[in-house]
Amino acid sequence: MNLWVSTRNAHKAEEIAHILGESCSIKTLLDLPDFPDIDENGDSYRANAELKARALWEKVKEPVFADDSGLEVDALGGRPGIHSARFSGLDTNHPRNIAKLLTELGDLPADQRTARFRCVIVYIDQNGVAHEFVGTVDGYIGFECLGKGGFGYDPVFMLSDRNCSVAQLPAVEKNAISHRARAVEKLKAFLKL
Ligand code: IMP
Repeated sequence: MNLWVSTRNAHKAEEIAHILGESCSIKTLLDLPDFPDIDENGDSYRANAELKARALWEKVKEPVFADDSGLEVDALGGRPGIHSARFSGLDTNHPRNIAKLLTELGDLPADQRTARFRCVIVYIDQNGVAHEFVGTVDGYIGFECLGKGGFGYDPVFMLSDRNCSVAQLPAVEKNAISHRARAVEKLKAFLKL
């Protein structure tokens, strides 16, 4: 089957293609150079993923995949959540987001720093019907950056069962256990691939 992925991130598309396997031919926004940027102004992961998926579906009228993800910290009432990329401001970067996170958590002990990454996929089928798939990975926020891999909050996201940060994992291991991988696996089962 053809599956459009509503992203310009070739790395993300490769990760998804790897999980879904060879029966799925992946195309992305890189195949549609004139496709406009989509304003992700929804108030939930689902709303943002559906905005991205629906805009592309209207153009291609073939099955479409879009995702939205973020970090939820319990002690912060689930923040930064859908605002993860811009936690420390509109024009920012990941080191500044991490610095803000560590400052807000201060010296709270590890058992009060619990957090999870969440990924919500919206898949729109050939008939235009939207389906949702969710993947999460649990951990806690560490006290300093550890490791050089991954991106975003990975250096401070400690895996509860591994005693290391996600940035300390080899890429293949991260890709096997990530929130996105878990959501994509659910889509794969739904599509019977
Ligand atoms: P996106 O929806 O995949 O673009 O993710 C939005 C934001 O959530 C990113 O800019 C990161 O701040 C955070 N995030 C999502 N996934 C990850 C991850 O796997 N590691 C670290 N940060 C992530």
